[in-house]
Amino acid sequence: HSSICKMDSQSSSPHVLIFPFPVQGHVSCMLKLAELLCLSGLSVTFLNSDIIHRRLLRYTDVISRFSRYPGFRFETISDGLPPDHPRSGNRVVDIFDSIKMVTKPMFREMLLPGGCLNSGKRPPVSSIIADGIMCFTIDVAKEMGIPIYLFRTVSASCFWAFYCIPKLIESGDLPIKGASSIIIEKDDEMDRLLLGVTGMEKYLRLRDLPSFCRANDLSDRAFQVVTTETQETYRANGLILNTFDDLEESALAQIRKHIPNLYSIGPLHANLKSRLEAKLTSPPRSSNSLWEEDRTCMTWLDEQAQKSVIYVSFGSMTMLSRNELIELWYGLVNSRKKFLWVVRPNSVAGDGQNIPAQLLEGTLERGYMVRWAPQEEVLAHPAVGGFLTHSGWNSTLESIVAAVPMICWPYYADQQVNSRLVGEVLKLGFDMKDICDRVVVEKFIKDLMDTKRDELTRPVERMMKMARRSVAKDGTSYKLLCLSGISVTVLNT
Ligand code: UDP
Repeated sequence: HSSICKMDSQSSSPHVLIFPFPVQGHVSCMLKLAELLCLSGLSVTFLNSDIIHRRLLRYTDVISRFSRYPGFRFETISDGLPPDHPRSGNRVVDIFDSIKMVTKPMFREMLLPGGCLNSGKRPPVSSIIADGIMCFTIDVAKEMGIPIYLFRTVSASCFWAFYCIPKLIESGDLPIKGASSIIIEKDDEMDRLLLGVTGMEKYLRLRDLPSFCRANDLSDRAFQVVTTETQETYRANGLILNTFDDLEESALAQIRKHIPNLYSIGPLHANLKSRLEAKLTSPPRSSNSLWEEDRTCMTWLDEQAQKSVIYVSFGSMTMLSRNELIELWYGLVNSRKKFLWVVRPNSVAGDGQNIPAQLLEGTLERGYMVRWAPQEEVLAHPAVGGFLTHSGWNSTLESIVAAVPMICWPYYADQQVNSRLVGEVLKLGFDMKDICDRVVVEKFIKDLMDTKRDELTRPVERMMKMARRSVAKDGTSYKLLCLSGISVTVLNT
């Protein structure tokens, strides 16, 4: 073929190792990055945890999809936890510890001569792209003399907020004063603007900091891990973010002052899609789901009027309390809108299968429930007019590209920052953080779908166009990713 990609390399066969943190959102978008690099002609090894790999094989066609790329290969490694560990909700943090303690030495071993990543059968690893919340990979890469780039799955705004945490501690903004006695929904203290997060001081409140910052005494394990890992980013050769310049210009400019080798190459799913469409006449769906997708909802959507349905999904980790589930359900039903709701197995605290029968019956009238949806396709469906989301960064980007306005109900981690960005700065929807009340839910849905629809349309359409432009030829995300010795045009058809 003509020049599908431009690749200059000093080494004869560049070979990139990609190592994600083993959870859905991270694996899925790093696989997209892997595919982009494969399309650029690189050899790529994707290092998956055993558990994630088994689920990928079970629920997706990754093997046949990636068989198109002769230089691609999966390897697996243990995440260090016992098989029956839940690996979700607030137990996700256990993976941080196990992966550092148990997986790190295995990872090192794999890269040593004779190890499965250095056995002589394939060219040696010439650069590593590791998940930026696993900075132990930097130690190993440095020991082996391999350049390493970090990939963070969060927004640039969230990365920057995390980066500023030491400054917020120094200025006394953190820990939150009287955190234990604060009534999160109502307290004015939570609405105070933070001056320490430069570039975001006009809109970022204490309430909008990553949820881990709400811990009383900053002893929260997730808080400590993410703060430390973020501070270590500078030790890597560069940082790759799944965002684009027009979306987060100001945060990117702040980060660049500290980490000059910063690559904003998102939205990755759109980047990959446009690249595949340019290359193949009928590109395959590139699902990386770790649950079985229920495609019956697509047929149901086909029967609905244009922009009449609100899609409800809280990603792969959110755990709802039974009360939250019921409040959301009443809000949806009382809004009298059609809705498509993803309720993952075991995502409601308490009993096993857990959707109360009375909810399911009421749902039949106006709603449709699935355990897992083909989300990118759902958002692109003409019947979908709004998204009630937990503001995970992948979901946010997917909604932006599909031009679907959002009601943001962030659950934890980076989602608090993202929802503020969407609601207050970009005006792509409404931020409902810290509230789960049927009356409020109903009001927000009516505003999103009817009353305030017009005021959202222009910013939503505008950002969709900028997202698509960024991944098109000569867009800002269509750029050279300079991994030491290798320059890859991530999108070049
Ligand atoms: N997703 C999906 N089907 C669903 C729900 C989610 O395919 O029913 C995908 C969604 O498209 C997104 C990812 O799962 O790519 C969730 O990532 P996100 O960063 O939004 O949230 P997380 O799961 O990491 O909290």
